[in-house]
Amino acid sequence: MSADAMNSGPVRIDAVKLANPATQNLRAYDPGHDLPALRISYGERLVELGSNETSLGASPRVAEAIRQALPDVFRYPDPKGGSLKAALAQKLGVRPEQLTLGNGSHELLMLIAQCFADPATSVVFSQYGFAVFAIATAAAAAQPVRVPALPADHPTAPLGHDLDALAAAVRADTRIVYLANPNNPTGTWFNDAALDAFMARIPAHVLVVMDEAYAEYVGVEGVSSALRLLGRYPNLIVTRTFSKAYALAGLRVGYAVSSVEVAAVFERLRESFNVNHLALVGAEAALADEAHARQIREHTATEREWLAAQLRGRGLTVFPSQTNFLLVDFKRDATAVEAELFKHAVVVRPMAGYGLPTCLRVTVGVRSENERLLEALP
Ligand SMILES: *Cc1c(COP(=O)(O)O)cnc(C)c1O
Repeated sequence: MSADAMNSGPVRIDAVKLANPATQNLRAYDPGHDLPALRISYGERLVELGSNETSLGASPRVAEAIRQALPDVFRYPDPKGGSLKAALAQKLGVRPEQLTLGNGSHELLMLIAQCFADPATSVVFSQYGFAVFAIATAAAAAQPVRVPALPADHPTAPLGHDLDALAAAVRADTRIVYLANPNNPTGTWFNDAALDAFMARIPAHVLVVMDEAYAEYVGVEGVSSALRLLGRYPNLIVTRTFSKAYALAGLRVGYAVSSVEVAAVFERLRESFNVNHLALVGAEAALADEAHARQIREHTATEREWLAAQLRGRGLTVFPSQTNFLLVDFKRDATAVEAELFKHAVVVRPMAGYGLPTCLRVTVGVRSENERLLEALP
């Protein structure tokens, strides 16, 4: 190095310019508030209804299993997640080779696009579909095809997926369609007959990704998991998570169920140790505690309907939901409402980023949390 270069101080770079075009078009995740700091300053008074976590908490078996597994953390985890896959395969009635584990299902939604999409292909999803669909598409530098949602006054699925329009939007260059049933942030769902008709219209070279992060909460007739269609459609991928109905958001475990052939493609790119040892053990313990899982489902359904009725009683528009959250339309800019709730230490999720500036998304908490929300509403 010349003396000149050594004396001229630190070199400046434009890191964004150096980033690949796909990354240049992305923005960093905005967590909203600094929750770890808020937990310290507010303590027990903080009501967290912004991230669709389950306030009831995980099965006590999870902590016990993790305690027993702690001495083994000096070793790498099982790269195949064999024990958890065996338990999942048994429960779901699929083969272990059809399963792919992820560091949360978010990682799997990204992995699908990384493996199958590229700049010469397009990816189809609904206008108010889960935010990660657009991010996964952008990360693969594929062309996004954003399909207008059903109208806000639709009788069963306001702002939900328009399956007819989604099927019609599939082009010759389309490689992936992302669907969520039920969807976040709308809470809306579609039934088995609608999905059957949709699948029949989709060519076999298009992968249909069914994000079922909230499937365990669904309690309406005629709506079942897309798992039932896996035998018929090798182009179908179902993703699930332990973050919501199993109350393990902090452990980061999700899974995809697909044809064996598609799962084998994921194995080429999946980070070998993407699910850590404690997460594998904890998820398996949670899966085994069916009584706890049932309690979470039943409690959530009861509280959701109670909270929805209370909110509607205050003249607010509450979207139908089969999840552990409610989308609430205040029919005016919701920024001030969110700020007022925050003043009372109640955290909810603003929806301006989704293009729904008059709405807030509210997680269904335990009764005391739901009451705090109602008391704090302006
Ligand atoms: C929460 C959520 C996920 C992903 O959660 P992970 O914690 O990454 O498993 C996926 N899809 C939808 C629709 C969600 O709301």
